[in-house]
Amino acid sequence: MSDESQTCPKCNSPYGYQDRNLWVCPECAHEWTLEAEIVEATEGPTFLDANGVQLQSGDTVRTVKDLKVGGDTLKSGTKVKNIRLLDDPVNDHDISCKVDGFGSIYLKCSVVRKDS
Ligand SMILES: [Zn+2]
Repeated sequence: MSDESQTCPKCNSPYGYQDRNLWVCPECAHEWTLEAEIVEATEGPTFLDANGVQLQSGDTVRTVKDLKVGGDTLKSGTKVKNIRLLDDPVNDHDISCKVDGFGSIYLKCSVVRKDS
């Protein structure tokens, strides 16, 4: 972080200074943290595959285990092209994709790995 002063959210003193992860106001002794703002700025939904690799829409992945899909089995190692990542997961499934023989299905990031 920087050495810049922060305006105290309580008394509007411009001399708030940083003490470890806290900001402290020298005038009214108010303490506050900017952590919430930082988290909001840097964390969006994360889509990590079974190996912890970040996935992106349009990626090609392979399943890492046999999956039951409507009475049928999607075999481990099945290649799935052009996945679409969902910001609003459907029943915890955050990948929408089309698989030959299965049509449109939903998968979880945790059951696939990025295909290189
Ligand atoms: Zn203050």
